[in-house]
Amino acid sequence: MKKHNFSAGPCILPQSVFKEASQAVLDFNNSGLSILEISHRSKDFVAVMDEAQALVIDLLKLEGKGYKALFLQGGASTQFLMTAYNLLENKAAYLNTGTWSSKAIKEAKMFGSVEEVASSADKNFNYIPKNYSIPADADYFHCTSNNTIFGTQIKEFPTTTTPLVCDMSSDIFSRELDFSKFDIIYAGAQKNMGPAGTTLVVIKEDILGKVSRQIPSMLDYKTHISKDSMFNTPPVFAVYTSMLTLRWLKEKGGIAGIQKLNEEKAALLYAEIDRNPLFEGFAAVEDRSIMNATFNLKDEKLKDLFEDLVKAAGINGINGHRSVGGYRASMYNALPKESVQTLITVMKELETQA
Ligand SMILES: *Cc1c(COP(=O)(O)O)cnc(C)c1O
Repeated sequence: MKKHNFSAGPCILPQSVFKEASQAVLDFNNSGLSILEISHRSKDFVAVMDEAQALVIDLLKLEGKGYKALFLQGGASTQFLMTAYNLLENKAAYLNTGTWSSKAIKEAKMFGSVEEVASSADKNFNYIPKNYSIPADADYFHCTSNNTIFGTQIKEFPTTTTPLVCDMSSDIFSRELDFSKFDIIYAGAQKNMGPAGTTLVVIKEDILGKVSRQIPSMLDYKTHISKDSMFNTPPVFAVYTSMLTLRWLKEKGGIAGIQKLNEEKAALLYAEIDRNPLFEGFAAVEDRSIMNATFNLKDEKLKDLFEDLVKAAGINGINGHRSVGGYRASMYNALPKESVQTLITVMKELETQA
């Protein structure tokens, strides 16, 4: 039986995508060949890469605005250093909203000076700092749109003339934003787009070419732009499966369509967290993520009972990250509303049994 999968990543993808992707492993496009054994330079795979890139630009409404979509490797973690390598000449500004931001800051410091404009470390990152100012002389400003571990999400991005770089690993394609505000958006595929193994980078081409250092070919965005993400062998299966997920998303009404569903799911779960006297939310209410809801049991003695009920209901992946504890329900695009309803039923059940 299919589990209700609230895993934070790698995570649930649409069932139809699992089916289609597994079929392509056996026989891709009725070619008599597996997607895993064809050349990445074959006509059939080039068409996949082209469609995946076009869907990204289309879904983000960046058509004709000077952006390029790349499918790279090395995870979002490689983007922590690659963004700095390509953009940081003197100074960069960073907003520190959690583990991933902190890691990005650590990498950037190897390339220049880093000004941390604000941090929510004082409260174990349970909120998003506001009213900070971004130095006008920074080469770029970096932020993390959704803090997967802590369950907070930036609702309003700063308006600034400084170029904007954003790690959107865990909420890309989940809500409408003016994506043209950003100069670089990056996201590991495995949170909301596809299997682990590829990283989406959406880049405004005119942001490049401003640093004086030499950049190794594989870490230079220009290399990948000039070769359409085919400088070396791309992760063909991860790109193919991401393309299928993006097609699915487009059929669902694009980002606007899925945002409505995401907001409904999040509203249902947060309402129960707030109503149920046995639970409390972790993240500040105004900064709550619609992707990852973090919450705790007020009475630790109920832990075993709750977790038995969770297991019996076929729910997977709600344990919180070790740096927060408690629980985390990740409600990515492909998670059905019924899964959220099942979790809520279990929370109510705990209340009657406790
Ligand atoms: C998971 C995650 C990362 C790390 O991604 P990898 O692809 O594993 O390197 C970075 N940033 C955020 C916001 C994440 O959720």
